[in-house]
Amino acid sequence: KAKQAGKNRYELFSPHMIEQTMWRIHMENQLQTALQNHEFVLYYQPQIDLQTGMVYGAEALLRWDCPGRGIVSPLEFIALAEDTRQIIPIGEWVLLEACRQNKRWTAKGYKPIKISVNISGQQLKQVGFVANVKAIIEKTEMDPRYLIFEITESTIIDNLEATIDMLKELTAMGIRISLDDFGTGYSSLSILKKLPISMVKIDKSFISEMTLEHRDLDIVKAIIFISNSLQLEVVAEGIEQKVQYELLRELGCHYMQGFYTSPPLPSEQFEAFLSLTHLDLRL
Ligand code: C2E
Ligand code: MG
Ligand code: MG
Ligand code: MG
Repeated sequence: KAKQAGKNRYELFSPHMIEQTMWRIHMENQLQTALQNHEFVLYYQPQIDLQTGMVYGAEALLRWDCPGRGIVSPLEFIALAEDTRQIIPIGEWVLLEACRQNKRWTAKGYKPIKISVNISGQQLKQVGFVANVKAIIEKTEMDPRYLIFEITESTIIDNLEATIDMLKELTAMGIRISLDDFGTGYSSLSILKKLPISMVKIDKSFISEMTLEHRDLDIVKAIIFISNSLQLEVVAEGIEQKVQYELLRELGCHYMQGFYTSPPLPSEQFEAFLSLTHLDLRL
């Protein structure tokens, strides 16, 4: 214990720590500025119905269009934004913008599609989250039945009962809940039974090895089997190859999302998918 404390004290003064702290403060300020200066943008990645080839929906994915740097991936700033709780105003903007975009598309005459939005645990823990969501829905006149909230297992774990109640309020409004990155967390299968979710997303780490590693294939099969038994729809993410989607379709997976169809795109480019009636998956 003493050794541990001594080690920590030493690390407090290490140049590496100071550098890291400075970097964090810098990034925190940068994120603040980014929000004020409207530097965040949403990209959209199509989700395709594996049976019909129709565009089912789009996942809204956050990007930071940083002056002088270009497009910055969320992997570089989401974790920090969660630590500093900046994810709360950022996430609110994401939901607002996704709803607005949906409205712009329907105003242009496109048939509405489902819009999936990633919701961080910090947002779910926030008092008044449901009220904020309601306000955004009213303001943008978004039909909540076209809205899907993607949450992860790790989000829910620390406050299961409270999270269930809040998710029930959201589902009562018509919003659907999808469990993202399924299989990568620590939770037990009972979470599938307890939570009011209607969809499960198989994590791309299982998909990428599925055709090479029989254990990954077995896991994918098991997830699809359990989901079907519980009447949950299944989305597979990270489909990059034809063999992967063919196999998933055979296995009864409902939807796919991945570079094979398209990477996440700026809203104007995504419109190409909205004007398609269906994708010819046999190509
Ligand atoms: P996620 O929600 O699991 O999103 C899927 C990620 O997989 C996206 O990365 C997407 O670009 C990537 N992806 C899609 N298809 C493929 C593929 O075929 N191959 C590979 N290798 N990757 C693929 P992205 O956009 O970099 O986002 C990373 C993570 O950042 C997201 O993972 C999500 O956890 C988080 N994130 C993104 N936007 C938001 C947001 O608005 N709010 C919150 N709280 N988190 C967000
Ligand atoms: Mg997601
Ligand atoms: Mg995911
Ligand atoms: Mg992820």
